[in-house]
Amino acid sequence: MNAGAYGSEFKNIVVWSEYLDKDLQLNKINNKEHEFKYRGSRFNNKNDIIVSTILQLKPEEKEKIKLEMEKNNKSRKEKQPLNFPSGGSTFKRGDGYITAQLIDKCNLKGYNIGDAYVSEKHAGFIVNKGNATAKDVLLLVDVIKQKVHDKFNIDIELEIEVIGEE
Ligand SMILES: Cc1cc2nc3c(=O)[nH]c(=O)nc-3n(C[C@H](O)[C@H](O)[C@H](O)COP(=O)(O)OP(=O)(O)OC[C@H]3O[C@@H](n4cnc5c(N)ncnc54)[C@H](O)[C@@H]3O)c2cc1C
Repeated sequence: MNAGAYGSEFKNIVVWSEYLDKDLQLNKINNKEHEFKYRGSRFNNKNDIIVSTILQLKPEEKEKIKLEMEKNNKSRKEKQPLNFPSGGSTFKRGDGYITAQLIDKCNLKGYNIGDAYVSEKHAGFIVNKGNATAKDVLLLVDVIKQKVHDKFNIDIELEIEVIGEE
């Protein structure tokens, strides 16, 4: 899914991967052939299974790396509701807008269905404050999408993957 944060993403460090296709043939692809895009790649097709990946990291002074990691961890802890279980960022960032800001402007922070809440810390996260079910989360997703559509005429897109739970 080309995970990324703080200005970097897997796209920048993958050299090549080997994957099994649906006929169980082993294939090797270079970086470009991964077809990386924002939070996605050719592996979104669900037909292929990656069996190995080579990553190329940039050597840097140990202290500098440590500082950068500490800075990013601190920022994450300050801005994200890591004290509750969540699926991470619920919606993709939009083209020309920040989805969490649109949700916030709909006054949805703290809105809940059952134990599924729009985080008060970061409107882009749905957190489980107790016994939220997948159904609660998906109903909440629908409410958020509808309210953002009604207010801004924008259809926001899920970043999390739904795998069929009711
Ligand atoms: C609190 C929190 C914060 C987060 N913050 C960020 C963030 O800042 N930036 C960001 O990009 N993401 C963020 N995420 C999302 C995170 O990157 C994903 O949840 C994680 O990368 C998924 O990897 P996984 O192995 O845990 O999940 P999995 O569910 O195992 O895999 C995710 C997807 O990859 C596929 N997959 C898994 N293994 C293979 C394989 N061998 N071959 C082919 N396909 C495969 C699966 O089918 C699925 O579609 C956050 C998540 C949480 C919970």
